[in-house]
Amino acid sequence: MQTTGEDTAQRRPPSIGIVGAGLAALRCADVLLQHGCKVTIFEARDRIGGRVAQSEHLGHLVDLGPNWIHGTKNNPINDIAKKTGTTVCSWDDGEALFDQDGKLIDAEEASEYEDLLWDDLVAEAFKYSKAHQDSIDVDLSFADFLSEKVQSLFTDESAKEAERKRETLLRVAKMWGAYVGSPIERQSLRNFWLEECIEGENLVVAETYREILDEVAKTAVAGAELRLNSKVVRISSHADDMGAKRSRASIHALNGLWDFDEVVVTTPLGWLKRNQQAFEPRLPQRLAQAIDSVGYGTLDKVYITFPLAFWDVPLPSEQEIPNGIDRQRTTPDSTGREPLRQPTLQSREKHYAGFTHYMSPAYASTINPRGWDQEAMNLAALPASCAHPTLLFYIRRL
Ligand SMILES: Cc1cc2nc3c(=O)[nH]c(=O)nc-3n(C[C@H](O)[C@H](O)[C@H](O)COP(=O)(O)OP(=O)(O)OC[C@H]3O[C@@H](n4cnc5c(N)ncnc54)[C@H](O)[C@@H]3O)c2cc1C
Repeated sequence: MQTTGEDTAQRRPPSIGIVGAGLAALRCADVLLQHGCKVTIFEARDRIGGRVAQSEHLGHLVDLGPNWIHGTKNNPINDIAKKTGTTVCSWDDGEALFDQDGKLIDAEEASEYEDLLWDDLVAEAFKYSKAHQDSIDVDLSFADFLSEKVQSLFTDESAKEAERKRETLLRVAKMWGAYVGSPIERQSLRNFWLEECIEGENLVVAETYREILDEVAKTAVAGAELRLNSKVVRISSHADDMGAKRSRASIHALNGLWDFDEVVVTTPLGWLKRNQQAFEPRLPQRLAQAIDSVGYGTLDKVYITFPLAFWDVPLPSEQEIPNGIDRQRTTPDSTGREPLRQPTLQSREKHYAGFTHYMSPAYASTINPRGWDQEAMNLAALPASCAHPTLLFYIRRL
């Protein structure tokens, strides 16, 4: 029996090209492969994972990208963490908060602010935003909402104390900006309800995202054609040989040109903003406008590893010193003569706080003229199997 080109095209599995090999692309490939598609992935880097990446450069495996699971309720990443047996921990009860003068805020007061912010004010803003999304002024921000709401708080305190606490709470609230990647003054109250994945716990992925990534990538690695070092520069669509009824899409990479039935683009927003001309024909105006209008910030991480977690607890007693640690030497080996792979002291039950937030400092105008907040994580306080003498600092450009 003779078949027409169209019959053959209908019978063969749809061919899909995916641009990028981050979590979005890998999951997309997984779903398409399960539905019988033929999938090819184009990734500019020499590895998969995108922003999910690890480094062992300092002698300990650390996440360069995500290391939190924000919100455990209905969060598929949390299910994958459980499935892969990835060690996680919660630091919600063990945070240290420093005020503008560099003084540690009393634990009870700090936890009052945390509870008010995360449990009450954020939840209230969600509800308010969802209920009034059409009528909220587009210029109103989450910060405006907070400024109004705090006025009804701490009313049983003296006027001076109430004012101090309100101001401190507003400063603590800047953490929410770090959490979602843009300052609270720029977060639209009207669209606030669109932020998702915050219900449940905030977990630290102590063992890194490595196994989570491997699990997400499993199907794609086994079933898709993976083209690493393939930077895509253009995506075009055109009528196929059968005429105008069907269209095909082409991926133009620096190392070649490929044709597909469909193309999925998962490059980050920054790439889309800078490369709208890469699409031919141009993207629909509504989509192009959305890409132009949505903003983003930059989040980087700095890890500093020491021979000993000297900040974690007082100096160890003789019996607690593990083999291989020179107990006379309490300062880092700055000459790098010895490996930095010295474990934290695992017999400890108590640690310094896992997470520390330094509110906008008034005491560091020379080195921090814009008064940026700073967050730090104490990786010596991770569960013993994952702990190491390392501090992690978050660097943001919002
Ligand atoms: C420092 C940091 C910390 C973070 N912490 C958390 C956290 O704790 N919890 C959390 O949930 N999220 C966190 N995130 C966000 C999270 O990492 C991202 O939301 C997620 O990884 C995005 O996945 P993606 O597949 O959409 O994009 P990406 O992972 O960015 O994947 C896009 C891929 O496209 C590739 N690409 C780009 N341009 C081209 C091109 N022209 N041709 C071919 N390939 C191209 C890139 O190389 C990349 O591999 C963090 C992000 C950063 C940077």
